[in-house]
Amino acid sequence: MRVTLVYSDSLAAYDLGPDHPFRPERFTRAVEMMHKRDLIGPNGMRVVMPTPATDEDLLRVHDADYIKVVKDLSASPRTLWPRHGIGPGDTPAFAGMHDASALVAGAAITAIREVLDGRADRAFNIAGGLHHAHRDRAAGFCVYNDPAVGIAWALDRDPGLRVAYVDIDAHHGDGVQEAFWNEPRVLTVSMHESGRYLFPGTGFETETGGPDAPGSALNVPMPPYAGDSEYARAFAERVKPAVRAFAPDLLVTQNGADAHRADPLTTLGLTLRGYSALVESLVELSTEVTQGRMVAHGGGGYAWEDTVPRAWTALAYSLLGRPVPADLIAEE
Ligand SMILES: [Zn+2]
Repeated sequence: MRVTLVYSDSLAAYDLGPDHPFRPERFTRAVEMMHKRDLIGPNGMRVVMPTPATDEDLLRVHDADYIKVVKDLSASPRTLWPRHGIGPGDTPAFAGMHDASALVAGAAITAIREVLDGRADRAFNIAGGLHHAHRDRAAGFCVYNDPAVGIAWALDRDPGLRVAYVDIDAHHGDGVQEAFWNEPRVLTVSMHESGRYLFPGTGFETETGGPDAPGSALNVPMPPYAGDSEYARAFAERVKPAVRAFAPDLLVTQNGADAHRADPLTTLGLTLRGYSALVESLVELSTEVTQGRMVAHGGGGYAWEDTVPRAWTALAYSLLGRPVPADLIAEE
């Protein structure tokens, strides 16, 4: 399998501060681990540098007013109250915020372009997956919605494209669902800890798509402490049939690793073995449904010292079509 890793050190500039739980180390450590295991380079994934998203790219998903506020706060980050969701709270302003966020969003386009141009079968935007950003506001640590910016770019380029987006982050993929709510060419699927218990409080089974796109959203809320077997069953019974029936040309995934039982921000029960089985199921699904064409994003993950790097390294093995070594996903 030809796999592209979209990566450059500058992606770590998306940094909400030293006390913030959303650490760039979640992916920089993963990339270090992948290097050690020879998953990057001639024997593994080819690295392609991301190109920043332009305003035109961002405007497919975000309002001009919002982009202007991000740019203003990026130049002068001091603010006493949140503006369009940016400020004291979940998504603080930081110097250079616009450029850092536009680079992550551009990385999603770079990844999808690699696959659509046929240079890669699969691509991995490890710094991306900022699925909570909305049209006109930041939320949940996310400024620009890179998965949505990538998909919107692809639809603009190829209007006949059908895309299935599957999000296994512990939190509902609300921003991506919102972006394509009324878009029949995109199926958004989210498996997450039920909104009854966890941010952002949405993602119920009754949310199924807008008037022009009925059935284009599928939500699979999981109860607290749902573990490997619950996830495997929900994937087999709900997610897989829906993606098969949609018959997409491309599978886009958000692979947040915060449904792991060690995650400090959520209350789910996946082990590394269960997470790895789940991403392997996604890769198998792409082999079956989209001739292997798949764009994977990172996402959340707050056990960033060890668990998240191991989870995403396991994902890299699966993307490359290689078995995941037992020692990588062994836990006590
Ligand atoms: Zn999350």
